[in-house]
Amino acid sequence: MNDKKNYGFTTTILHNDRQKGIEHGSLHKPIHTSVAFGYNDARQLASVFQGKEPGFRYGRQGNPTVSALEDKVNQMEQGVGTLCFATGMGAIGAVFQSLLRAGDHVVSSSFLFGNTNSLWQTVAGQGVDVSFVDATEVANVAAALTPATRIVFVETIANPRTQVADLRRIGELCRERGILYIVDNTMTTPYLFRPKSVGAGLVVNALTKSICGHGNALGGSLTDTGAYDWNAYPNIVENYKKAAPAQWGLAQIRAKGLRDFGASLGPEAAHHIAVGAETLALRMERTCANAAALAKLLEADERVAAVHYPGLASHPQHALCGELFRSYGSLLSFELKDGIDCFDFLNRLKLAIPASNLGDTRTLIIPVAHTIFYEMGAERRASMGIAESLIRVSVGIEDTADLLDDFSCALEGC
Ligand SMILES: *Cc1c(COP(=O)(O)O)cnc(C)c1O
Repeated sequence: MNDKKNYGFTTTILHNDRQKGIEHGSLHKPIHTSVAFGYNDARQLASVFQGKEPGFRYGRQGNPTVSALEDKVNQMEQGVGTLCFATGMGAIGAVFQSLLRAGDHVVSSSFLFGNTNSLWQTVAGQGVDVSFVDATEVANVAAALTPATRIVFVETIANPRTQVADLRRIGELCRERGILYIVDNTMTTPYLFRPKSVGAGLVVNALTKSICGHGNALGGSLTDTGAYDWNAYPNIVENYKKAAPAQWGLAQIRAKGLRDFGASLGPEAAHHIAVGAETLALRMERTCANAAALAKLLEADERVAAVHYPGLASHPQHALCGELFRSYGSLLSFELKDGIDCFDFLNRLKLAIPASNLGDTRTLIIPVAHTIFYEMGAERRASMGIAESLIRVSVGIEDTADLLDDFSCALEGC
């Protein structure tokens, strides 16, 4: 195959390992379980440790199976480099571990994955100041910036209320001010959207979700898109400034965020994620179509008080999503009218499973305030736009008619 050819999304993922050469002509990158890597020449071992030649050192810092997945995610995001972590939270945690110091300031969207919100609270207790803003308006982000602001952090489609950050304008603002812009692309995946296109410097993907896609492995990644000039970042230590500035960020994250922090992805999980990623585009086409059909059905039902789905014309950022994303995603949430018990409703569903994951092939459904957003309390939930009756649906690849029928029946009480 010709390396230079501009292949489509799925072709690129399917053939990426093979183009780089796989051991024994194997079609899958093998699962390398070895923690250590031996060298016949001790001088070579030293030079690998000193970064003078490429090679693996110790499993916490790199592994051939994981590295093949990193390359695949990097192709998907069209980045300059990608690192994988044990979980999506491991990837986000590594940002804070490696790039922030006491006295720094972060501006974050208030509409966040619950554990990221919780992590920010922890970081705030450790001397980093965090401002939460409604990131659907760039003006709110601009108003929160201070001379100490190092990072602006947003999600594409926020889980679970589906607010969409003003992605392009925030990118322009960050570029003007030399601030590192980090976008969590989990809900859109690189198939629907590349944050690089709006100037994000780092992209987070919780690989656990749609990229793996089958709910059988945890993983996360950070991609450096090359859009950020690390010369402008004050917290890079001299040790990681040996190569060209484009490499500085990932060099420091690899050392401080992966090697020292230790949330490394295991090779077995990397293999599961790589296999799942092969069908990302196919699954997204199906889940997005199913989600659009389900959102329409719910919106038309008199027992439903509100439906939040970017594909509905009633969604406040519907037009923006149409401009930026290939499709509107597979996540929706809705509120039942007062007087309908949400637990009884959930128990009537036969296909949609009460469970907390997202991006699975199966449709998963969860009452948000009672579970994943329970710990933060009613006040913080209200500030994030989370109604007490909110139900989140991660739409799967079931046959559309079966899925719609399941929800219609449960609404009708059968
Ligand atoms: C799930 C999720 C994460 C965390 O990923 P894990 O692999 O579960 O740690 C981060 N961001 C978003 C938007 C998520 O949905």
